[in-house]
Amino acid sequence: MHAVEDLKTKLQDQSQEVIRLRSELGATDLEKHLEILVSENERLKQELSACQASLLDVPAPTHACSDCLHSKDAEALRDQLVHLEEEIQEKDRQLAELERAAAQVAERERWLKESLHEKEEVEQQLSRRLRECQLALSQHAAQPPQIKYISKTVEVESAQSRKALQEAQAQNQALQEQLVAQRRLLRDLELQLHESQRVSSQLRTQILAYEGEMERAQGQLEAEMQNLEEEKNRIIEEAFVRAESEMKAVHENLAGVRMNLLTLQPALRTLTFDYNCLKRQVQDFPLMLKKAIAEAKQEICQVIGEVSSANQELLRKYKREMNLRKKCHNELVRLKGNIRVFCRVRPIGLGELDEAKSMVTFDPDDDAVLTLSNKGKAMTFELDKVFPPEATQEEVFQEVQSLITSCIDGYNVCIFAYGQTGSGKTYTMEGIEDNPGINQRALRLLFSEVSEKAPDWDFNITVSMVEIYNETLRNLLGDNPHEKLDIKMCPDGSGQLYVPGLTEVTVQSVEDINKVFDLGHMNRATACTNLNEHSSRSHALLIITVAGFNASTGHRTIGKLNLVDLAGSERIGKSGAEGSRLREAQCINKSLSALGDVIHALRSKQGHIPFRNSRLTYLLQDSLSGDSKTLMMVQISPLESNVSESVCSLKFAQRVRTVELGGPTGRKLNENSSTSSSPTHDSLEVRAPTASTLPIVGGSTLASSSRSTSSTRRRSHSYQSSGWYTHVRVHLSTLQKCILFLHY
Ligand code: ADP
Ligand code: MG
Repeated sequence: MHAVEDLKTKLQDQSQEVIRLRSELGATDLEKHLEILVSENERLKQELSACQASLLDVPAPTHACSDCLHSKDAEALRDQLVHLEEEIQEKDRQLAELERAAAQVAERERWLKESLHEKEEVEQQLSRRLRECQLALSQHAAQPPQIKYISKTVEVESAQSRKALQEAQAQNQALQEQLVAQRRLLRDLELQLHESQRVSSQLRTQILAYEGEMERAQGQLEAEMQNLEEEKNRIIEEAFVRAESEMKAVHENLAGVRMNLLTLQPALRTLTFDYNCLKRQVQDFPLMLKKAIAEAKQEICQVIGEVSSANQELLRKYKREMNLRKKCHNELVRLKGNIRVFCRVRPIGLGELDEAKSMVTFDPDDDAVLTLSNKGKAMTFELDKVFPPEATQEEVFQEVQSLITSCIDGYNVCIFAYGQTGSGKTYTMEGIEDNPGINQRALRLLFSEVSEKAPDWDFNITVSMVEIYNETLRNLLGDNPHEKLDIKMCPDGSGQLYVPGLTEVTVQSVEDINKVFDLGHMNRATACTNLNEHSSRSHALLIITVAGFNASTGHRTIGKLNLVDLAGSERIGKSGAEGSRLREAQCINKSLSALGDVIHALRSKQGHIPFRNSRLTYLLQDSLSGDSKTLMMVQISPLESNVSESVCSLKFAQRVRTVELGGPTGRKLNENSSTSSSPTHDSLEVRAPTASTLPIVGGSTLASSSRSTSSTRRRSHSYQSSGWYTHVRVHLSTLQKCILFLHY
């Protein structure tokens, strides 16, 4: 009985415990938390959607501010928002888990309720049994023999109830354990809840911060948008104003064009009328043209016939005039003398500065006069031209180039450099590498002149180089420089001379010239031991032959240009030289005297010219006689130590220059008083003039320019500019134009 009572109280305790547990389990708290969480979640979601909406409301960044700071901020905010969304999703997930756990707890609770219900039923059964037992017990109390049995039954039943009690206790134990577990779980859930509350508050503050940020960005964006809007409005206004003014101008133009159109219309009508008229005329034109052409042809043929006969007449007259002009020219040149004498004074060299005083003075008003101070006595010499020390190679060449070009016209020309050793003969003739002398410049000039005459004329220029040493002739361009050459008379009976075995090299360019000069120098050097000494004791000749042929007229010309670097003229013979030096000096004296004789005889128009007196004059016979032109370039040194040689050279120059007109009357002019003293070489006779030995073809120009016009002694002629020549040229060119026009 006592045990039953105990069981009852225990059962009541348990049911109370269950009720307490139910209240403790805090199903309502949990639900409350759940509700709070759900509402919180809901609120967060709303905030999120509001944020998204405001974000969407924010206008997309324009290109103008795509790079600005706000777009970057907005980008960062968007990233943060995405991050927040992710966190919210995470929270949602946690919330779902919590809900699941709450559902489990509710399930447990339901199960506990059921088991409690079962216990109550068991309890009711037990109490019913108890009551039955008590009833039976009281019945058995009246019947003592039955008591033993009942007590057994009770005992049996007590054992069962004990067992049931034990089971109930065990169950209770299990329930308590579950309860403990549930409590633990609940605590965990509470902790989680706290944590999520904390996180959500953090998130809220973050969201607030972001919202602030976004508001700021939005404010900036709005300000920017406003600026852009203002800018846009301004630009639109400007464009509008511009467009309005342009429209105005266009309207004005349009009005003008309309006006023009109105005025053009009648013009167009007239034009159309004219056009129709012209069209009709064009249709008739071929017939008219044919007729006109036939008439014009007839007229033109007639005129051409007249013009060509006039042309023939003119050409005939022109040729006659040309021949006359040439005759006149040659006669004039002969009268003036074909021999020019120039003097060049070399500058004082660097090594001669100790005796730097120049003995030579020049007349500033007359470039043909120079004065030499000889032992305190001033000696004045008059020549055709004097070159002072500062005269350049180019200036010297300018003075001789007309002579050189005359060999293209078929004249023979000789240019001699005369003077003592060291006076500048080789410098004038050959020059130095970067400043060439007459030789190279002459060939260059001939090339350019010849090329100008092409294609009417075909020219061939050949070059020979010869050395005359001790009266022997050496071929400098041959294979054997030691070979001696001879001068012979042409066997055709023409009286012309030729040198058998003399090498003639055709030259066409400056490179060819240089090659020829190099070969000549090499051969000259190999033939002697001391080139400098040898070259001053021998004459070096460069013979250039220019042969031309005019295919249209059939005319041929041949001219020779002899450029001679003479041996030194110093009077070694008189200073007691012996042996080979004496022979050299004798040979030089002989040839230079012979040259002086020949030139003098030529100028004096003597009947006999002593060409044969030396190899040099004999070789140059063709080029010195007849219409040939000769230039003597007398070189002198300005130094005091060379004065006596300079005086000799100038006397020689003076003598060969002296004009002595020959002819039938044999008229003679006296020499200038200051130059009447005897020259170095022998004096010459005066004879009748000789006949020309070369055929002369074509016109020529011989001009010796002179700066002073006052001097009557000077020569300055330019026959090309004479009146009749210009007249004929003008007529011819007019005629040519007429013919061209008529042919066209
Ligand atoms: P030559 O041939 O009469 O013996 P060169 O022509 O050899 O004399 O001249 C002797 C020196 O004087 C050379 O060194 C030459 O360069 C120099 N010389 C001559 N004339 C001139 C000049 N006009 N200008 C500069 N130097 C000159
Ligand atoms: Mg020399």
